[in-house]
Amino acid sequence: MENIELLSKQTLENLKQQNKVFSPENYEREFFKLSTQQNIFFEEKQQLDSIKNNLCKIEKKSINENVTFKEISEILIKRINSQQVKLFLKDLSHFMTPSLSKDIKNDIDKFCEEISNNPNQLINIDNLRRLRELTNLRIKDDKNIYNEKNEDIKKLIRFLVDIFTKTVNETNITLDKIIEIKNEIKNLDLSDSSAKQISLLHKKLINNIDEIENKLKVNNESIINSQKDTNDLYDQIENLKCSLDKAEEEKSIDYLTGVLTRRAFAQESKRADNEYNVFDAKYAVVFFDIDHFKKINDKYGHDCGDSVLYTFASILNRLTRNEDIICRYGGEEFVAIIHYNCLFDVTNYLKRVKNIISSNKFIYRENKIEVKFSAGVALRINYNNFDETLNFADKLLYKAKGLGRNKIILDNNEVL
Ligand code: GH3
Ligand code: MG
Ligand code: MG
Repeated sequence: MENIELLSKQTLENLKQQNKVFSPENYEREFFKLSTQQNIFFEEKQQLDSIKNNLCKIEKKSINENVTFKEISEILIKRINSQQVKLFLKDLSHFMTPSLSKDIKNDIDKFCEEISNNPNQLINIDNLRRLRELTNLRIKDDKNIYNEKNEDIKKLIRFLVDIFTKTVNETNITLDKIIEIKNEIKNLDLSDSSAKQISLLHKKLINNIDEIENKLKVNNESIINSQKDTNDLYDQIENLKCSLDKAEEEKSIDYLTGVLTRRAFAQESKRADNEYNVFDAKYAVVFFDIDHFKKINDKYGHDCGDSVLYTFASILNRLTRNEDIICRYGGEEFVAIIHYNCLFDVTNYLKRVKNIISSNKFIYRENKIEVKFSAGVALRINYNNFDETLNFADKLLYKAKGLGRNKIILDNNEVL
């Protein structure tokens, strides 16, 4: 009681000296400041500190040391409330439902309903993961249906090309008729949703007819060759499409190991880092490198080395969850981004990888090959950005090599 009276007096005096109005807010700020300086603790101050600690990173950045209840209330008012979350979920269910297939509709509705009953859980990490899985399923569903339709249209076009060429060959079709058909095909209304490939085929079909038209003009006999030309052309289009698809895939998937390429990894790591900044989705960067890999190549041959790389990557891939990322960083080096809630999740994952790699022999033809690896592990929370985290994981990998290999070193000096 005495304390309070003394503090109150001093608070008022200080405010007077600072020429500040005796408003409740100024009083509160000055009072708590003095109580902290003099190590006198009040329940209200502890409550205020506890609310302060529960603010998220961005909210914390906007307050200073001597924040008042009023200022904290202003921050909390800006938070999205349960009613708003519910409204959002209503629309989310609509956005997430695949445009064509309805296969995952029930799962989406169930997810939205669960969160709707407990809106605070929307930004829980497991729910964000589930949301990501559902989004991936939605994209996959749409892609599948799109590809099926694409194939159907291609079949139809091929059929039309065959009929058209046959008709041209078997009947005494006139030049006028050819031009008329060409114009009809040109005016064919392709919907927005038809793929680039379809419009490519559409164009090629017109070019093809152009060719027939020219040939008709020059010499009617050349029509006989047009069916072959059409087929050749179609094959060319097919090859072109295949190589385009392949090139697209090669950009993101490593041809030998089937995990992400370094280029695709650069994009994925940006996404992971963004989620770390916005949602506090913590992650660890693991740099793997196979020990004495050159010796495997030298002793059993390069093909065997390839097979070991493939198996090593497959094991990493199998042990890594959907939302985590594995990439082939170079030769026999792989990098993983592993999300976690507590450090135990990371060490558990690393122990599983080590256990599976070291307790199994890699088999190539009749050879049983022992494979060991070293790794460096850095937690993003300990660094300023992704690059620093990756560099530190790399440093720890080389420390592991220096200490005799077959080791995993974490940035808290733990060695597995
Ligand atoms: P350390 O334990 O220090 O990592 O030794 P290491 O032999 O594993 O490492 P080093 O960097 O000396 O050799 C890596 C070898 O990996 C050299 C290279 O020829 C081989 N390599 C890189 N890419 C491939 C590939 O795609 N297939 C095969 N078979 N070998 C590859
Ligand atoms: Mg190596
Ligand atoms: Mg290496």
